[in-house]
Amino acid sequence: MILEYHRPKTIDEATRLLSRVQPKTIPIGGGTSINHLSKQDVAVVDLQELGLNVIEPQANGSGWQVGAMVRLADLMHSNVLPESVKEALRLEFSSNQRNMATVGGVCAGRDARSALLTCLVTMGCLVTLSAGSEPVSLADLVGGAKFLQAGQFIQMVHFPNQEQVMVNCIARSPADRPVLIVAIARRSGEFHIGLGGFGDRPQLVYHGSDRPAALHAVHVACEGASDDWAGADYRQDVAVSSVRQLLDMMQ
Ligand SMILES: Cc1cc2nc3c(=O)[nH]c(=O)nc-3n(C[C@H](O)[C@H](O)[C@H](O)COP(=O)(O)OP(=O)(O)OC[C@H]3O[C@@H](n4cnc5c(N)ncnc54)[C@H](O)[C@@H]3O)c2cc1C
Repeated sequence: MILEYHRPKTIDEATRLLSRVQPKTIPIGGGTSINHLSKQDVAVVDLQELGLNVIEPQANGSGWQVGAMVRLADLMHSNVLPESVKEALRLEFSSNQRNMATVGGVCAGRDARSALLTCLVTMGCLVTLSAGSEPVSLADLVGGAKFLQAGQFIQMVHFPNQEQVMVNCIARSPADRPVLIVAIARRSGEFHIGLGGFGDRPQLVYHGSDRPAALHAVHVACEGASDDWAGADYRQDVAVSSVRQLLDMMQ
């Protein structure tokens, strides 16, 4: 149950509210997940009046800065994402969800079966968690190497420039969520390979330019990746052939 609803007008005020231990206080982005919380008693802090709905180029031309409250629909219509990722986003989220869900919500959701999140991790996105602090790697935040401290929340997502990004989602049917997501981003001549569709979180499994090493890393990452939707052997075979195919198309 939602015990309290706050809509602060400043980052400081949001930070103060989110630092509270009692009642448990969490940020709300588009509310698509939070609206389904029925068992937890929480206070929510709506981030919509903090000016975090902007998309702008990085000052040094190295990419884009996207506010955490930018809706997925606006992200899809911007120049931030390559076409391949826009297509994955369009397939993953319905038009209603795109109009509500936010970039910050997707990053905080840490959904292993999200093609968009797998792409953002693979694209080397960084996140700003408090005013004036250095951004941290989204892969670290999603993977658990970094945590949100009391009062912190995702404020900005930084998208580095990419040379090329390709993504392949494998599902039982077009309407199902993927059992395997393979994303490859090329930056500064190196390949970054991310996998999703199984386990707890999307993961970065390789970066470099050595093709056999990349295929080996993908094979190893799928070891033990069995669940109700697919077996590890299937995922290993499909992931390796998918990476091989995408690398052929990218070179
Ligand atoms: C029917 C349905 C289908 C869904 N399908 C998908 C899907 O295909 N792929 C997918 O990835 N997800 C899916 N989800 C989950 C959810 O919609 C997404 O994770 C969504 O992107 C959340 O975005 P939001 O802005 O609505 O976040 P909210 O619902 O507002 O918040 C989600 C979580 O993120 C936290 N949060 C939100 N913003 C921030 C922030 N700026 N900083 C820190 N924490 C924050 C909240 O506290 C909460 O824990 C689905 C949910 C439903 C109900």
